[in-house]
Amino acid sequence: MRPTLPLSTWIIAVDLDATRSIRRQGGHPAEECLCADCMTWKRVAAKALPSGLDEQLKRLGIEKDKPTDLYVYGRHEGRLDFRVMFHVVGKILSGASPWLQGSDEGRMHNYHVVQSEPTWVGLRVSKAWDSFEYAPHVEKDVQSDVVCIDFRLQVLV
Ligand SMILES: [Zn+2]
Repeated sequence: MRPTLPLSTWIIAVDLDATRSIRRQGGHPAEECLCADCMTWKRVAAKALPSGLDEQLKRLGIEKDKPTDLYVYGRHEGRLDFRVMFHVVGKILSGASPWLQGSDEGRMHNYHVVQSEPTWVGLRVSKAWDSFEYAPHVEKDVQSDVVCIDFRLQVLV
């Protein structure tokens, strides 16, 4: 099954079987991790991402409380800034560029703002090889189709 599915501004032709196999293979950094940040994410995941994306994420085969990787990049009084990544297999048909335009040197990641209030949530969808972070390994012929669903978001704690 390779349905064509929307996620915010993106349209992705998702290989649901290959995406499930990523889930089954295990060994991802955030999987079964018991560190404080992963435990916090498990607690807040259901509500931290905009509820408008719930149905879209579900159809993509993404479980919000089971990211492949995550870390906290900002710690403030009452707020943590999380980077949370999920991976699917498929082809990005359209959507915001993963790079900010007009900067040839030191290309900057482009996060599309999917929510600004009450907490900021940005989303970047790219081929995994346009990300510098962990990516699952899959069979050779589909490795180029691994897609990183990359959130940066504020979480009130
Ligand atoms: Zn962890």
